[in-house]
Amino acid sequence: MPKSEPRLMPTGTCWCGCGTEVGLGSFFSQGHDKIAEAALLAARYDNSVARLIAHHGFGPENGVREAAVEKGYWEACPEASCNYLGAPASIRVHRKKMQH
Ligand SMILES: [Zn+2]
Ligand SMILES: [Zn+2]
Repeated sequence: MPKSEPRLMPTGTCWCGCGTEVGLGSFFSQGHDKIAEAALLAARYDNSVARLIAHHGFGPENGVREAAVEKGYWEACPEASCNYLGAPASIRVHRKKMQH
């Protein structure tokens, strides 16, 4: 299991802040997680993913992709000559596409 942040509990109201009631066990109304993500990027990072990356200490010299692997959510492509990193489902699609 990946190391995780302090546990969050859904409250029954959408966490994007729209006020919609959601089912027990969900943080967001359908699709509102993406809205919240975009709003955070606008509100705190000038709509710039580069700013978001830099804010967390990542960049060209300190790859955020490697951090995702360390955390346990992403994996490296097992092909020796390949530097592709991604979620397990992405790795499967990638390997099929690259035929390795
Ligand atoms: Zn919402
Ligand atoms: Zn690969």
